[in-house]
Amino acid sequence: MSELRGVGIGLGIAQGPVIRMTEALPAPEKTSSTIGADAERARAREAISAVAAELTERGDLAGGAAQEVLEAQAMIAEDPTLQDEVDTRIDAGTTAEWAVHDAFAGFRATLEAVGGYLGERAADLEDIAQRVLAHLRGVAAPGVPDPGHPFVLVARDLAPADTALLKLDQVLALVTTDGGPTSHTAILAREKGIVAIVGAAEAAGLRDGETVIVDASSGVVVTDPSAEELERAAQRAADRLSAVAAPLTPGALADGTAIPLLANLGKPADAADAVARGAEGVGLFRTEFLFLSSAQAPTVEQQRESYRELLAAFPGKKVVVRMLDAGADKPLAFLNDAHEENPALGLRGLRALRASEDILREQLTALAEADAATEADLWVMAPMVATVEETKYFTALAREYGLKTPGVMVEVPAAALLADRVLAHADFASIGTNDLTQYTMAADRMLGSVADFQDPWHPAVLRLVREVGAAGARLGKPVGICGEAAADPLLAVVLVGLGATSLSMAPAALADVRQMLLGRTLDEAKQLAEAALAADDAASARTAAAQLAASLPQH
Ligand code: PEP
Ligand code: MG
Repeated sequence: MSELRGVGIGLGIAQGPVIRMTEALPAPEKTSSTIGADAERARAREAISAVAAELTERGDLAGGAAQEVLEAQAMIAEDPTLQDEVDTRIDAGTTAEWAVHDAFAGFRATLEAVGGYLGERAADLEDIAQRVLAHLRGVAAPGVPDPGHPFVLVARDLAPADTALLKLDQVLALVTTDGGPTSHTAILAREKGIVAIVGAAEAAGLRDGETVIVDASSGVVVTDPSAEELERAAQRAADRLSAVAAPLTPGALADGTAIPLLANLGKPADAADAVARGAEGVGLFRTEFLFLSSAQAPTVEQQRESYRELLAAFPGKKVVVRMLDAGADKPLAFLNDAHEENPALGLRGLRALRASEDILREQLTALAEADAATEADLWVMAPMVATVEETKYFTALAREYGLKTPGVMVEVPAAALLADRVLAHADFASIGTNDLTQYTMAADRMLGSVADFQDPWHPAVLRLVREVGAAGARLGKPVGICGEAAADPLLAVVLVGLGATSLSMAPAALADVRQMLLGRTLDEAKQLAEAALAADDAASARTAAAQLAASLPQH
């Protein structure tokens, strides 16, 4: 067997035969038109509007996020600037095929040069161009194969039009060679719960029909798997299914130690799903998600209504609301107006709020009012806190508004290293492992090219978590985890071994983590943590913990 690495989406595991995506159509030759510019223009127009109509139709069929994406693609296809570019080339005497190919390629190059989110949209343009070309040539557009049996789909990067209509009962897993964790493939795989690994460059060498194991939880595609490996993978897939069907007990270790399992939420409407999956409360409510498209700061009334709706869904339960975390990947127009070269290191989180203290005060007012009108146990916390002074500032301000339990997120290594002094003032700490990893490893969490560094298993990150866990234990203050790390079942146990007292995650991950915790005692969790801490790098830490876990008795 050998392994190919990429970025895993979710925790699923699947196995099956590879089928590769149909290859792209060959690029047209640059030849002169024989039918004249008017006729070529008409052909191009007809093909483009046919493709736009088809994309819209596919969107209507798919619904949800896929529909939005496909409608956006239909709009790109008919973008007037792009049409002008096509016409200019036709007027110079070329064919509609060449004009479409060349005009779309020009646009794509521009997007790729910009990079980041826009760079990842480049695949969309390529997909549209291919569909238009196929239409002009009267051939089928390249797309998802349909071999008549379940398969692992391997592609360069799936276009939204493809992922939207995947026959889920046929696609066992998705593997792409390109595309980062924010590509459409990743977004749609998450939404549809498809086992997926993106950005696995070496998957380009996989052959049709060969059997692979796709392990999203470790981001590994196993080629030439042994019979034993296939059996283990099948067992893990079956365990996942039984975890989902298991009773919704409160989070606890095998020795009965309670580890509350909480939900990460972005809007009140998602509360019902979290409750249905057994969330014991909310460990992170990302308030900025409510206002990402607002040009103006939300009013106190608007906010109070949203918070009231959230709190009302959790009577008697803990709900941790995070103050607006604006900046970097989540800019809010009303809090981040200045251009910054390195926004992740800029006026983000509490720093941005402090620079607009009236907005922070309004948010605290809205929270205090919603709290008074509901029965939940409201805790509030500030994002991206780096210093003891910021901790004192925020906790004092929150208490001024009558909010009884103010805490801070530990996402910056400085706050982790001084956790004892931070926790002397805050009522609790919640570790955001996504940003803590980004800042510890100096690797932009949005960038596919440095995704390898963005691994919370790294012992440097684990040491910082240990620092916070130990400070919390000394001072008797709760230490939660609310980054993606809490959703990795084995890492969740390690984090508990490092001192985490609660875990908060996307509701879809609760079942796996609940089951894993029930299989380990606190003492074993500490042993697993020691094994991971002693490693040199993230991959060895994960392996060390997994090997030790395999050798410990099952409870
Ligand atoms: C984190 O950084 O781990 C976190 C939970 O916050 P966000 O992902 O919203 O930045
Ligand atoms: Mg964060």
